[in-house]
Amino acid sequence: QNPTLTGRVAVVTGASSGIGAATAKRLAAGGAAVALLARRTDRLESLVKEIESDGGTALAFAADVTDAAVLRNVATEVESKLGTVDLLFNNAGVMLPAPIDELRADQWQRQIDTNISGLMNAIGAFVPQLIKAAEAKGVADLINTSSIGAQNIFPTFAVYTGSKAFVTHLSRTLRAELGAKFVRVSAIEPGIVGTELQDHVTDEGALAWLADSKEAITWLTAEDIAESIAFLAAQPARVNFQQLTIMPTGQP
Ligand code: NDP
Repeated sequence: QNPTLTGRVAVVTGASSGIGAATAKRLAAGGAAVALLARRTDRLESLVKEIESDGGTALAFAADVTDAAVLRNVATEVESKLGTVDLLFNNAGVMLPAPIDELRADQWQRQIDTNISGLMNAIGAFVPQLIKAAEAKGVADLINTSSIGAQNIFPTFAVYTGSKAFVTHLSRTLRAELGAKFVRVSAIEPGIVGTELQDHVTDEGALAWLADSKEAITWLTAEDIAESIAFLAAQPARVNFQQLTIMPTGQP
């Protein structure tokens, strides 16, 4: 067991699959009590069972991150059931690439609502607890899931990568603001990770690009990213990784 995760109270958004599910398992294995948030509660319930059978502590909360009021209620419930949250892994997201002149305004909005507003809703719901926990324990963590798309250019991914550029820049600014209150803020920026993220893509061009990429390189796994989150959270209180870019070795 990693002693620095023991006794921590973590919230993971987007915990029903991919990076969020793997990170919830990893944090629980390290000794954190973990609140699992997502819309697919059947997935969350089976993850709770898996974590419990491995000796960990987890609770499932049905939450659509686009609903700020729901997240505020969940935050109150998490605090009363697990304790004051000292780690938020703010991770729920969607990726829906398409050429801009196809005018998929519905998909633009879903990405903005989830990746930007949803991320902010979770920040609004849990930052007061992070500050409170940092006062009591000396440190707390806000780790936001950005993407390599915040740095590099991927044609047809403009709205998605724009939303992730928001996440990275917001995180840098919040780090400078919340560091004074001992809340560390980090943005993680993964390259391609094999998850269900790609399953929601409908655009033919993007699907072909993803298929070529999968053929050409070995993608990261969700567990690779989970290990990085555990690493960030286990640093001494004085150490705050501002951004962590994690690429598949073969991805340009
Ligand atoms: P998945 O599709 O496997 O997971 C996405 C998670 O987000 C699911 O648990 C889903 O749960 C949740 N989610 C989506 N919309 C909402 C919503 N409105 N309310 C609550 N939860 C929601 O993909 P990943 O694990 O890959 O994605 C996790 C994060 O990693 C995302 O932010 C993504 O942008 C980012 N990322 C992924 C990369 C990759 O290559 N896979 C690379 C870089 C970044 P549910 O549907 O049950 O609500």
